[in-house]
Amino acid sequence: MIKQISCAHLLTLTAVQPTRDYICDECVKTGDSWVHLRTCQTCGTTLCCDASPNKHATRHFHTSTHPVVASAEPGERWLWCYADEQMAGY
Ligand SMILES: [Zn+2]
Ligand SMILES: [Zn+2]
Ligand SMILES: [Zn+2]
Repeated sequence: MIKQISCAHLLTLTAVQPTRDYICDECVKTGDSWVHLRTCQTCGTTLCCDASPNKHATRHFHTSTHPVVASAEPGERWLWCYADEQMAGY
């Protein structure tokens, strides 16, 4: 059951930015490993999340304030807004 969306970021998103590379753009620079990947819907950067030690996607939201990410995991079709903590399928 999908909750009612009250997030303007998700409601006004017209197209989902696809993932270019299935790597964390920050972890590859330092040689760290990642678990889950998210693609920022503002700048297109793909970063690690959740169980990854560096949680670069969360950090990216706090430093850039880009609110919406899409899951970059194959077969997953959902968006997440960090600002409003809301999820939407697509
Ligand atoms: Zn939002
Ligand atoms: Zn990372
Ligand atoms: Zn971004």
